[in-house]
Amino acid sequence: MMRTSLLLLFALALSWGAAGIGHAGESGEIECLKSSAFFAGPDSPDHFKYAPERDADILHLALDVTPDFTNRTIGGTTRITFKPLVKPLEELKLDAVDLTVSRVESSEPITAYQVTGEKLVVTFAQPIPPDREAWVEVTHSAEPTEGIYFRTPEMGYLDGDTHLFSQGEETEARHWFPCFDSPNDKFTSEVTCHVPTGMTVISNGRLVSETEDTATGLKAVHWSQETPHSSYLITLAAGYFKKLEDRQGDTPLAFFTPPSEFEEAGNSFRDTKDVMAFFEQEIGVPFPWVKYDQVCVNDFVAGGMENTSATTLTDSTLFTEATENIRDSDSLISHEMAHQWFGDLVTCKDWSHIWLNEGFATYYESLYNGQKNGRDAMLYEFYGRARMITGMSDDVNSIVRRNYDNTSEMFGYLAYPKGSWVLRMLRAQLGDELFRRCIKTYLERHHHANVTTEDLRAVIEELSGNSYDQFFDQWLYHAHHPELEVRYSWDEKTKLARISIQQTQKLSDRVLLFNFPWTIRFKGKFGTEDRALHVKQKEEDFYFPLESAPEIVRLDPDYTLLAKVNFDPPGAMLDAELADSTDVLGRLLAVEQLAGKQSREGVEKLKRALNSDACFGVRLESAKALRGIHSEPALEALLDSTNQPDARVREQVYAAIAGFYDPKSRAAQLAMLAREKNPAIQSIAIRELGTYPEMDRAVLTQYLNSTSYRNSLASAAISAIRAQDDPAWIKPLQQNLLQRGADYPSREFARGLSTVAYLGRDQPDRSATEEFLLGYTGSKKRPVRLGAIEALGELGDPRASAALEKFALAREGTPEQTAAARAREAIENFRRPVEGLSNLQKEFLDLQKENRDLRKDFDALQKKFDALGQKPAGGKKSPSPVKTSKQPSTS
Ligand SMILES: [Zn+2]
Repeated sequence: MMRTSLLLLFALALSWGAAGIGHAGESGEIECLKSSAFFAGPDSPDHFKYAPERDADILHLALDVTPDFTNRTIGGTTRITFKPLVKPLEELKLDAVDLTVSRVESSEPITAYQVTGEKLVVTFAQPIPPDREAWVEVTHSAEPTEGIYFRTPEMGYLDGDTHLFSQGEETEARHWFPCFDSPNDKFTSEVTCHVPTGMTVISNGRLVSETEDTATGLKAVHWSQETPHSSYLITLAAGYFKKLEDRQGDTPLAFFTPPSEFEEAGNSFRDTKDVMAFFEQEIGVPFPWVKYDQVCVNDFVAGGMENTSATTLTDSTLFTEATENIRDSDSLISHEMAHQWFGDLVTCKDWSHIWLNEGFATYYESLYNGQKNGRDAMLYEFYGRARMITGMSDDVNSIVRRNYDNTSEMFGYLAYPKGSWVLRMLRAQLGDELFRRCIKTYLERHHHANVTTEDLRAVIEELSGNSYDQFFDQWLYHAHHPELEVRYSWDEKTKLARISIQQTQKLSDRVLLFNFPWTIRFKGKFGTEDRALHVKQKEEDFYFPLESAPEIVRLDPDYTLLAKVNFDPPGAMLDAELADSTDVLGRLLAVEQLAGKQSREGVEKLKRALNSDACFGVRLESAKALRGIHSEPALEALLDSTNQPDARVREQVYAAIAGFYDPKSRAAQLAMLAREKNPAIQSIAIRELGTYPEMDRAVLTQYLNSTSYRNSLASAAISAIRAQDDPAWIKPLQQNLLQRGADYPSREFARGLSTVAYLGRDQPDRSATEEFLLGYTGSKKRPVRLGAIEALGELGDPRASAALEKFALAREGTPEQTAAARAREAIENFRRPVEGLSNLQKEFLDLQKENRDLRKDFDALQKKFDALGQKPAGGKKSPSPVKTSKQPSTS
């Protein structure tokens, strides 16, 4: 899965791709709520998570459903075939949340069934003996808030685009059909869905039939997944879709979008065939399923979800050619496709091993990047990830761990980018050929089954003949990475290069001293010499005899170690590195060093790199470095470098210029706006112009009311309006949102609401703004509804608090409790005490404590008196030794 909550994080990781990774949608919000509701302390047994026990082996699940698009409900039957495992089975327990169950039948006599909030429990008259095949058939219906998501005109989506989609990962399947809803069981499945005749149904596996029923006017579409997979990978997408088709070898490929978005489908679909061909050759195992469909849906709850043979994608991955190479869908397409092997064919046994899904998908995504865009582009991607990982604060969790509160915690930077880095390091140690053989064996040995990290280690040890205990222990079962302080010196008399390496990471029972092979490359008149070393001490010196002093000392030239390295080579060495066309990493590191130097000479070097380096990544980093230096010459260098044919670099140069609050910067953005055609770059100028008070209101109004793909220019205008912070914008913005609301993606629209609130926050009369925002708290688009609630919090009008209170009360304990929690948060936000008030509170708390201490003393005294058979003076048993005249203010 690709999540939106990671989007911001990965945006920092330079070239993670523009596809938008994600899970900040509906289910993500629910997870947040779960974490606060079920927080278990680190010592609690609930804090440790294991795969659930299995009493029965599920063999097959057949789902037959009919959605009601008007009432947004779904009902039907689920027939589950199973065999008891080991012991006679008295009860079959299935996961089922918020399902109405009207009937349960079985091949075995049953005495009763119970529906609890979380489970459906079927009790058999006689225990079913192990290995006897049996079935239960459940008739159920649901008005789901998870698991199935409707997108209909009543909710504000386009009429001709009506559709629904499912989301299984991590534990949503149980919200629309009963099942064993954990990854550690695999079974075959079939889905039959009854829809109006003009609609399309997409599901896992092979299309068996499409039959029309004249009585109901519906058609039944029957799909069959004939090799086993886990419940979270069962999918259903149904509605109005248009389709593109292709073929890779014998595998049919299809790409679906809602009809109104079909024009852009080809842009995102175009590399699918190429990705599959590359993966089949690289992985060495043919694509494991009978077909591969990709379906774009509105307001998806993630960036992408790798359902078996039928991936769901966010429609925000679609893009127009106008954005040039700034946007593509390659990283998303390749990530989800890689999951078809890693995640779907072999599946982590439980979420503690989720890196076996996500780390692999992220790693193979990069391999495809390398295949398509060259090795330098791939190295730049790993460079970005390494900077992100080594820049994380509080990095004390291991990749594989059981001490988490909710599963969504596991879908973070440890599983994705760090997981991909672990595979990169493994490959470096094993070599390409052996690495490939290990991965192929791992897939072949465990196909259609579950895996743990130990299964991978076992294959690697078997094929390499080596122990990988330490590698797995330090990188997967312990946290962090080496932090290295490296110093270099040359002794001309002995012709020895000395390299001192110190591991400075804070050691604990979670973070070890690392043990790793490393290479140092010396370049000079003598040519290129690679010297291998093994780092395992906290501090160690290494000596290397060379013919003459090296011109370049490059640590880890093949980039095989995830580490934070502090190494400051002499200036002449940096120049040589920056000029080395064979070594993109060396050039990136040289740019990083120059970024920390304020000299004019350094600026000149960065400017040269920005305009002439062969790798776009080095050009991007040079622009960022100039922005970071933030001197007059740095701005001049950027202003001289706007003529960039590569749109990604042009975008970065203008973003860097926008970092300077300067009339020259403003003039450059205006000039760009007049000639630039790329909306992604135009948006930078529009946003930045908002930060200047002399911004021409007419220009901003023009962009606010402009028409562009996904309304991106109007969204940029909203950012500018926010920066202007002028209440005069409230009315025109409200009007724009009212009239053009349907043109915005839901989250951009929600940002518009937030901006209205922000502009109105200090107005003496906020009632009209409040009323405007309250109108959207009933929106059927969840991002809009939640955006409106947050905006009301931002508005900070105490009268809005009453409305929010009512809103929360009506929803608590219902499936809408996420919205209720947001409302409570919003209320809290504007109840947060002002500074003076909090001092008063502190004073009160201090007095309370003093009071308690005095009471303790008094009690002790009283006991002594009692023991002596005396009463204290006054004889009162509940004295109030301190009276406070100050009371905390509770507004
Ligand atoms: Zn993924």
